[in-house]
Amino acid sequence: MITLALSKGRIFEETLPLIQAAGIEVSEDPEKSRKLIIGTNLADVRVVLVRATDVPTYVAQGGADLGVCGLDTLIEHRAEATSEDLFQPVDLGIARCRLSVAVRDDFDYASAVRRGARLKVATKYTHMARSFFAAKGMHVDLIKLYGSMELAPLIGLADAIVDLVSTGNTLKANRLVEVEHIQDISARLVVNPASLKMKTDRIKPLLDAIQAKVRASV
Ligand code: AMP
Repeated sequence: MITLALSKGRIFEETLPLIQAAGIEVSEDPEKSRKLIIGTNLADVRVVLVRATDVPTYVAQGGADLGVCGLDTLIEHRAEATSEDLFQPVDLGIARCRLSVAVRDDFDYASAVRRGARLKVATKYTHMARSFFAAKGMHVDLIKLYGSMELAPLIGLADAIVDLVSTGNTLKANRLVEVEHIQDISARLVVNPASLKMKTDRIKPLLDAIQAKVRASV
């Protein structure tokens, strides 16, 4: 059995055409079903639906052979993992966005940086945020949040946020502006190293088909 871990929403939707290229059709729409294990047209391939941040853990621990998650999730996972527990063979080029620093549109970020002010930064991405500000030589106080980061500067919880930005509409709707571009992000296919070794005959053709489809759509 080959188990693929996906999260609902953008990752699931944008991964479908890629696995279709490998001859895999899921048998159910996760938005319409509450099932967490979804079958496919292939008797030995199934999809498990997990939280985006749990995908690396499922794959690393062997709960799934393969998974798709954002580079952001992968970097945060790696920062907490004790060893290199995942193969990351393919940049899928989907779920593209960027990790950015944003502030209220009336906050003078450039001047705060020049003055060496100690900023309060709210984020879910504490490891990437810490590395980014450390590399800039800035001292920041990180505030870990799990969602709705945009709210933090609006109510004075933080001076800035580090969050994913795609269209920029969420920032705009909350009168926030991007002041630093930290990193481009896209979704990655990750593989359990033991699965790759033990199920090479099954997994390798799947990886090749997905990779070919990704190359064709670039
Ligand atoms: P947008 O308004 O299109 O810039 O989207 C921003 C919101 O969507 C923020 O709350 C982000 O955390 C979230 N977001 C944007 N792109 C992604 C992505 N690729 N993966 C997960 N969350 C995202």
